[in-house]
Amino acid sequence: MTTTDLIESFSHSIVPTYARFPLAFVRGKGSRLWDMEGREYLDFGTGIAVCSIGHAHPALAEAIARQAQTLIHTSNFYHTEPQAALAGKLVSLLGPGKCFFANSGAEANEALYKLARKFGHDSGRHEILTTLNSFHGRTLAGIAATGQDKVKKGFEPAVEGFRHVSFNDLNAVQQAVTDQTAAILIEGVQGESGIHPASPDYLRGLRKLCDDRRLLLFVDSVQCGMFRTGRFQSYQRILEVNSASPVPSSEFLPDAVSMAKGIAGGVPMGAVWIRQPYADLLGPGTHGSTFGGTPLACTAALAVFDVIEREKLADNARHLGDYLKSQITSLRSPHIREVRGLGLMIGVELQSNIPSLSVEGKTPASLLVLRLHEHGLLTIPAGNQTIRLLPPLNITRAEADEAVQKVCNALQNESGH
Ligand code: PLP
Repeated sequence: MTTTDLIESFSHSIVPTYARFPLAFVRGKGSRLWDMEGREYLDFGTGIAVCSIGHAHPALAEAIARQAQTLIHTSNFYHTEPQAALAGKLVSLLGPGKCFFANSGAEANEALYKLARKFGHDSGRHEILTTLNSFHGRTLAGIAATGQDKVKKGFEPAVEGFRHVSFNDLNAVQQAVTDQTAAILIEGVQGESGIHPASPDYLRGLRKLCDDRRLLLFVDSVQCGMFRTGRFQSYQRILEVNSASPVPSSEFLPDAVSMAKGIAGGVPMGAVWIRQPYADLLGPGTHGSTFGGTPLACTAALAVFDVIEREKLADNARHLGDYLKSQITSLRSPHIREVRGLGLMIGVELQSNIPSLSVEGKTPASLLVLRLHEHGLLTIPAGNQTIRLLPPLNITRAEADEAVQKVCNALQNESGH
């Protein structure tokens, strides 16, 4: 079968929810993927920030195989060791609290919405404030929470109880709180809208606002978590004084954090950590998930944490992220408006006037992503003007240099396309 055959087969049998690029992959190893015709690509998308330790990492593959031969699944009516071990790991990294496991980011966020409703129920509050240009998932509540009209179109009426305010604007959120408000939800670094980190003052101000008005503060870490920014959580990186002194949890701690994507290295998993004293609000019968926290997924996540610690990948993400950002900036390309981000979560925003990236019905970002495919580099568009670099946390400096060269070549060729 060729890529063309496969694309034809998809057109007959797959619901066309994605505008897919004309690539079909069969194999991966480390930071590389190979397509059906045997062409090699450097993967700076990793799904979308999912394959956090690269493709086919032997430690992850071995852990999955071993667990698959032991116990893949039992119902959440029972207890299993991997689920307890993974919850213990998350609590040790985040603070005193408890965890709920699901299978995706949207589902992890759904647990946050239900937590907010339960929290506010007795005082008649149910509203959640989220931010403009945010992204929180594709379920009905997820698109209601998301601050982008394009995901909501055609699915009205929206789930009630979400309002959006400008991101990084403390005044706007202070003004928006009403006696109906139960919670505030932000991304530590907005991903889908083009890599926009929260400012330290915004985070501190939100914590104070939530304390003063007795609101829950939620951080959606689905894309920006799992060490991608150089620390486990992006807020830890944003608030750190220096890399050697982790921010004390007393200065800033959300009331709950949602996680997914990279947490199990590509095995589906969503997770929520809820801080005490709110961790028992969702009691027996109030929420659940058939597949949440299976021994297989939890073992995979534990193996990913193990690799990240053993191979010091938080530091690698920090240092190679800084390096990548500075190398792309120093290209001084007239086509690049800004390079921003934290660690290995980097956005390259394009100028709006690049002639060959101005095609009716296509965004400049998706056209550049397509052109980078010709150069053997996978990246992810974000918004209309930005491409995201989300490589594995274990990339090497040589791979970073290779990616920068490919971006440079693709933009240099721009007038020739
Ligand atoms: N939250 C954020 C910040 C995301 O970036 C995403 C996915 O891109 C989601 C939630 C939804 O995650 P999932 O696609 O696993 O449901």
